Amino acid sequence: MSKILSTAFWMLNTCVVFGQKMTIQFDNTPISVAISKAKLKYNKDFAYSLTFDDGTDDAVTTILPVFKGGKVVGNNTTYTPLTYTDGCGNAIAFRGGIAWNTANLAGIDIHVGNAPGMLTWSQLDSLYGFGWDVFNHTYSHKALATNVMREQDYNDEISKNSLAVRQRTKSKIEMPIFIPPSSDTNYHKKAFQTGHRLVFDQQGSFVGYKGLQVDDNISLGSLVIHRQGMEESIHELHRLEATADKSVSGKHFWYNEFTHRMDDFQGGGYHFNLFQNYMQRVANRYGKNGSDRMWMAPLQEVYEYLVMRQTTNYALQVSQKNIIVDFDLKNIPTWLRRKVVTLVVHSTVDFSKVTVPAGVTVTFKGNGVTKLINLDFSNWKSSTPVDDTATTNKLKNISVYPNPVKDALSLEVTSGDWDVRIFNEMGQLVAEKVHFRAGQPLNVAFLNQGIYFLLMQQGDKSYRSRFVKVE
Ligand SMILES: [Zn+2]
Repeated sequence: MSKILSTAFWMLNTCVVFGQKMTIQFDNTPISVAISKAKLKYNKDFAYSLTFDDGTDDAVTTILPVFKGGKVVGNNTTYTPLTYTDGCGNAIAFRGGIAWNTANLAGIDIHVGNAPGMLTWSQLDSLYGFGWDVFNHTYSHKALATNVMREQDYNDEISKNSLAVRQRTKSKIEMPIFIPPSSDTNYHKKAFQTGHRLVFDQQGSFVGYKGLQVDDNISLGSLVIHRQGMEESIHELHRLEATADKSVSGKHFWYNEFTHRMDDFQGGGYHFNLFQNYMQRVANRYGKNGSDRMWMAPLQEVYEYLVMRQTTNYALQVSQKNIIVDFDLKNIPTWLRRKVVTLVVHSTVDFSKVTVPAGVTVTFKGNGVTKLINLDFSNWKSSTPVDDTATTNKLKNISVYPNPVKDALSLEVTSGDWDVRIFNEMGQLVAEKVHFRAGQPLNVAFLNQGIYFLLMQQGDKSYRSRFVKVE
C-alpha cells in the first residue's frame, strides 16, 4: 500500500467541501509523497519588485524594451530580454509596476496625448497587457508637501483616480495597491477605508525595510510596507544582493524599489545607463542564465501570490499511481487579478502527466529532487459564488429582487431603519444610505454594470447579499 505524507495541510482541510480536482500521474506507485505550497511563485528564493512613479512614458519607450528585449527609442542598441524561468523551463520577462496619477496639480488629465513625456491611456493598457500592474498614486498628486490638504481632498484624490483608471482603460484596470504621493502618510488610513489592500511608502520605520520576510502568513488587513528609492550609486546591486543572501535555508524575502523618469535628475530619476547595467547584472546573477533564484514581478502580482498561498487549501487522495489533489478555493478573494499557486512535490518517483480542471492552466517539472507544479486559476470559473472577504462569512445572506437588477432592488428585511452599504468587486464602498426604511425600493440605477455586494446593518444585526447590475 502506498502511504501519503502530506505536511500540515491535511489538518486544515478536514471540514470543507471540495470541488476542483487535479490528478498527478506518477510513473510508478510512489512510496511517499509530500506536497506543499511554495512560499513564492515558481518556488523562488526571493521576490523583487520595481515601480516607476508618476506615469511617465519612458516605461514604454525605455524600460519595456530593456525588460522584454528590443530597441530603446532613440538608441540603436538592441537589447536581449531579461528573464527568469517558471522552474519548468519557460522563460518569463522582467515586468514592473506604474504608480499612476491621472492629472497634474492643476487637475488636468495629462494622459490624452497632450503632455510630452507622459504615458497615454492606451499605452497604460498595453503595459497592463504585458503583465505590468498599476497602482493608485492619487488623481492629481496632491499632498501636504505641495498643497493645503483638507480631509475631503484626500478622499477625492483617491477615489477620483480609482474611477478614472477603471473607466478610461480598455482593461477596466482596478488598483488594489496605494502609493501616496510625496510620502504623505495622511493618505494611509483613507486608502484602507476606500478598499485598498496594501500601501507602500518610503519611511524606514515600515515593515519590509531591506526586504519583507514572507515565510509566515502576512496580514491581509491594513499593511504598510516599505519601498526603497533607487539611488545614483553603482552599489545599488548590493541591496538586492543582501536580500538574496538572506533568502537561504528556507527563508524567503520580498524586496522592492522605485524610481522616476530615466535621466530626469531633477525629478528623482535614475541614469538610464546605470539602470540598464544594474538590470543586466541582476538578470545575469539571479535570472535564467544565473542562479534563477529570483521572481521579478510587480508589487500586486507578488501580493496576490501571498494571498493565494494563504487562502487556497487542498486535500490529497491516492489512487494507485495517481495522487488526486482536491482544491478548496472558496476563500480566494474575487478581486485578485491573478490566481496562481505553485505546489512543491517531493517524491522519489517522477511524474509525467498532470490533469487539471477546465479553465486552469498548468506547467510542471515532474523529475529531480524538487518537483514543481504551477497552477493558474485566473480564468477558472467557480460554479458557486465566492466570498469577497473572510469576515463576511459570519453574516447571514438575504435575498434581493430582481437580480440581475436595472433600476431598484427590493430587500427582504423586517421593519425598522437600516444602514445600507454597497461595495464593488474590489471591496470598495460605492454607495451608502443610512436610515434606509424597510419596504422601500433601493435605487441602484446609478451604478455601472457589474457585480456588487450589499451590506445591511441594524444594531448588531447584519445581512449581506450579492447582486448583478445590468444597464
Ligand atoms: Zn509621485
